[in-house]
Amino acid sequence: MYKTYPFTLEKLPYDFDALEPVIDAKTMEIHHDRHQQTYLDNLNKVLADKSDLHDKTLEELMLSDIDTVRNNAGGVWNHDFFWKAMIGVNVSHIGDDLAAELRKSFGTVEEFMIKFEALALGRFGSGYAWLVKDGEGKLEVLSTPNQDSPLREGKSPLLGIDVWEHAYYLKYLNKRVDYVKAWWSVVNWGRVEELWKA
Ligand code: MN
Repeated sequence: MYKTYPFTLEKLPYDFDALEPVIDAKTMEIHHDRHQQTYLDNLNKVLADKSDLHDKTLEELMLSDIDTVRNNAGGVWNHDFFWKAMIGVNVSHIGDDLAAELRKSFGTVEEFMIKFEALALGRFGSGYAWLVKDGEGKLEVLSTPNQDSPLREGKSPLLGIDVWEHAYYLKYLNKRVDYVKAWWSVVNWGRVEELWKA
């Protein structure tokens, strides 16, 4: 899906207002057209004089030990992942197979959601909460700071929520908890299941 330098911004997989009223159109527009665009522009800028990195994919760059490369590559990748993790309000539901796997890993689906929410709310400052699959296919929840990725720990993201303030502040102000709880109704569970089975 990703080529190499110079990178270009992918379109949102839906209209800005597709997630209303859970995520308002203005937030989606600013989040994609300004925040993600800025990561992309900065990534290209940082890479301009690093010709040894011009054959690297975004996934390779986001594992870099160079902070500016890792942060900006992560900012592009994580947002693309986040857009695809969402779909219109209440149009997607957890399938039987995935529900069974969540019960196996967390006891109940509700317990999974409680643990995921706790990580999303407990992430100090900016970052993401994730449902991931480890190298052996086992599910777990974790959170990462800034634009870091579970891929750095060899874990594949299945679902992720952006808890940077820019993701919710226009509508939810300082109430991250209201955003996180409302967010469940726009999760694209079909995509989660697809990634889990991949
Ligand atoms: Mn964001």
